[in-house]
Amino acid sequence: MSALAQNIEKLNGYLDRFRDSGIPNRINGVDAAGSGGAFQTTSPVDKSVICNVAHGTAADVDAAAQAASDAFPAWRDMPALERKKILINVAEAIEARAEEIALCECWDTGQTLRFMSKAALRGAENFRYFADQVVQARDGQHLKSPTLMNVTTRVPIGPVGVITPWNTPFMLSTWKIAPALAAGCTVVHKPAEASPLTARLLVEIAEEAGLPPGVLNTVNGFGEDAGKALCEHPKLKAIAFVGESRTGSLIVKQGADTHKRNHLELGGKNPVIVFDDADLDRALDAVIFMIYSINGERCTSSSRLLIHDTIKEEFEAKLIERVNNIKVGHPLDPATEIGPLVTEEHFNKVTSYFEIAKTDGATVAAGGEKIGDEGYFVRPTLFTNATNDMRIAQEEIFGPVLTSIPFSHEDEALQMANDTDYGLTGYLWTNDLTRALRFTERLEAGMIWVNSENVRHLPTPFGGVKASGIGRDGGDWSFEFYMEQKHIGFATGQHKIMRLGA
Ligand code: NAD
Repeated sequence: MSALAQNIEKLNGYLDRFRDSGIPNRINGVDAAGSGGAFQTTSPVDKSVICNVAHGTAADVDAAAQAASDAFPAWRDMPALERKKILINVAEAIEARAEEIALCECWDTGQTLRFMSKAALRGAENFRYFADQVVQARDGQHLKSPTLMNVTTRVPIGPVGVITPWNTPFMLSTWKIAPALAAGCTVVHKPAEASPLTARLLVEIAEEAGLPPGVLNTVNGFGEDAGKALCEHPKLKAIAFVGESRTGSLIVKQGADTHKRNHLELGGKNPVIVFDDADLDRALDAVIFMIYSINGERCTSSSRLLIHDTIKEEFEAKLIERVNNIKVGHPLDPATEIGPLVTEEHFNKVTSYFEIAKTDGATVAAGGEKIGDEGYFVRPTLFTNATNDMRIAQEEIFGPVLTSIPFSHEDEALQMANDTDYGLTGYLWTNDLTRALRFTERLEAGMIWVNSENVRHLPTPFGGVKASGIGRDGGDWSFEFYMEQKHIGFATGQHKIMRLGA
């Protein structure tokens, strides 16, 4: 039996339970039907229905927020080492079910096994990393003044809402939920409507690993009702959001009346700038990896190539050859490099840019077409002869689509790199150290890699500037979001207190 056939057989084994009983909400450790009925989730591989999913609405969010609120004091006050142990158990339980998570994720989202098998393990790593930080999360400072011993301490902010998108949903959910739990917060999670499977696996795994009921609750549903209700709920103190920039604006508006703290990780139109003095073979590998991996459905993807005009022809020729060679296919085939796009809506959005590119005067140098009608497959696409003001250079396409734009000197490259609403990541390829220092200083992005693709290191800050977001994750930055600083001043003697009305 081929590896693909074996993976499909295993997947069917894992999906049987979902087909039989659907995906309910999980509130206070108990399965609950959605008060809005149910909706169906489908696979982008063949458009087939996977299962019914609870359609959560404001009433379900209210029940989940109440459960998170009730569970909060005990979780907050649990000794740090006990909380740490539970989170490590969760990490181990994720590792034990990594194959199931990866196969379900691929079927639900169209992501390939090549990448999702690692994403499941990254989820475990997220839990392990933040578990290790639990013990010092509340540590503070001692700031002595002449009359007071001033100390600071950090306390968890309370029950929080986590709203996640459909791209690499398991990894991203753990990235937000693990630090919240480590900080001592309880969580109501609303996964994206297009990818509910692995959010269900996560809450199940966490509870089996010892997470008390109500500490993590999952409400499925759509942004405009369940998501909105989460932002508006008075018992939830903060919203950690990952998704589109325009949804980020709604998150802030919806949370205004309840004074929500918001952390927004939003879209990107990230530049990769390749100078003619770079190691061009490595640059080529990185350029291809950073837009065509994970189906191009990746917030940190380098979707704009700014290429030195002296090497443009040679570099683009090699690029075209490699892009045409990328293997598009069934996501469970280990050889596949690109799977189908997540939904019909997203497929229509991505493919609409094939015409937009031509109308605006760019050249479709590779791809630019869909593949068959069975699922939402597209050919990896490269646009050349583009300018930075074209829609294909300004709008987040969020698919395996790269726009190549030439530049003739450094200032022009910098100006184009920054000429976008977004500012998530930037990638710079040059062997001129002084230029790299100069360029990174002025590049408007939250994260920059020099002579490297995106290599994530969990203690480093993750987040964007401009329309790419507000706030940072990673290391202690995550705790800054999920915790409140508190100052306490203890008088050290009988200092003079001003007497009024004496
Ligand atoms: P989306 O904004 O459409 O949806 C994200 C989540 O928000 C979903 O759960 C959705 O149901 C919910 N939502 C929608 N409307 C809402 C509302 N009014 N109130 C509350 N919740 C609402 O995003 P998507 O299409 O699922 O994901 C792709 C986007 O996510 C891309 O723009 C991508 O760049 C971005 N993203 C950013 C990062 C990052 O770290 N910066 C990481 C991954 C994805």
